[in-house]
Amino acid sequence: MRRVSIFGATGSIGQNTIDLIARDLDAYDVVALSGGQNINQLAEDAIRLRADVAVTADEARLDELRTALAGSDVEAAAGSNAIAEAAARPADWVMSAIVGAAGLRPGLVALEQGATLALANKESLVTAGALMMGTAAKSAGQILPVDSEHSAVFQGLVGEDMRSVERIIITASGGAFRDWSLEDMAAATPEQASSHPNWNMGQRITIDSASMFNKALEVIETKEFFQCSHQMIEVLVHPESMVHALVGFNDGALMAHVGPPDMRHAIGYALHYPERKNLPVERLDLAKIGALHFRDPDPVRYPALRLAHEVLETGGHAGAVFNAAKEVALDGFIDHRIGFLQMAEVVEEVLSRLSGSHCLKNAEMTLDTVTETDHLARKTAQAVIEELNR
Ligand code: NAD
Ligand code: MG
Repeated sequence: MRRVSIFGATGSIGQNTIDLIARDLDAYDVVALSGGQNINQLAEDAIRLRADVAVTADEARLDELRTALAGSDVEAAAGSNAIAEAAARPADWVMSAIVGAAGLRPGLVALEQGATLALANKESLVTAGALMMGTAAKSAGQILPVDSEHSAVFQGLVGEDMRSVERIIITASGGAFRDWSLEDMAAATPEQASSHPNWNMGQRITIDSASMFNKALEVIETKEFFQCSHQMIEVLVHPESMVHALVGFNDGALMAHVGPPDMRHAIGYALHYPERKNLPVERLDLAKIGALHFRDPDPVRYPALRLAHEVLETGGHAGAVFNAAKEVALDGFIDHRIGFLQMAEVVEEVLSRLSGSHCLKNAEMTLDTVTETDHLARKTAQAVIEELNR
């Protein structure tokens, strides 16, 4: 039996992971599940999957979780330290699907204890790529990408030599505002940004898709995971979301990964790797689909993409600044304190204000240096938002 843990179990990726595992419960020994505010979902899944422990991120809701688990053998725990402790419990395969920088620590701890880390939490590689990759190299653990584009590139590289790769192309659906004018985007509401044409995902990544901050994070994620130069990475708008990524080789070949927009493919690939097993996803009928479309992203409507390359040019802790500023700007947009296009303005301003800070220049990367940088960037982003509102 494989020992598995799922962090962010109550979210969109977490629930898709549970869907796959629950189809073959006898094959898995579920160690830990973590969630946030959805206590009933967390408790119900922990009981159904016979987990050893269920952890909510919210310390104030421990009693509620205990009550929901009453009568079962599942242990209850709460708080970010308890999540990290649960990640230290031996497991063979760990899903990292918490949203945001909060996902970094449990993923690192799981890698350190030698687990295979299925990484949906792209923020881990954006904020601490060198630390994550270094930890994976030193420990018995390994990282498998779960972001659909990165899983696609990873699959395109099986049996290939990275030295023959010329370019890596990740696709973007264009999100909710694909065909909107700049004026309309400036006036867009969080509600309008929260619906995605192709993918069914958590609210934060859905809004990040509309602004292409999600794709910007993924450009950084690509560089960190595949250890390629950032000039090799291209973004292509592809409204159908069926070609997830392409790898371009030095003989002119492009290897494309094509599949339905269903995260259970990438999750299942990481779950069964290096084998392929039957997965409950739609089989595409390309004759019926008929045509697929591609175009370059508009740099004026999507400044986040330029910022990602600037971050990679700077290197070091710039990714942690970028991600933290983006998270605060996203909160500001969701709370109606700034407009949709102002999110990129805030992030750019924070990057510029902190460009000379010692945090950014810190050569060594540890969880402490990343956390310190993250806090400084959040404070700076709050200040920028307040100034914009004056
Ligand atoms: P979601 O919002 O649906 O779920 C997030 C999960 O994290 C929930 O279980 C929530 O309780 C938990 N959580 C939130 N804040 C937390 C905190 N501070 N501490 C501990 N737990 C916390 O998000 P999602 O769409 O499932 O995305 C999860 C991660 O996977 C993100 O990093 C996202 O970028 C990435 N991802 C998602 C998709 C997708 O299709 N949804 C695709 C690719 C990558
Ligand atoms: Mg993706």
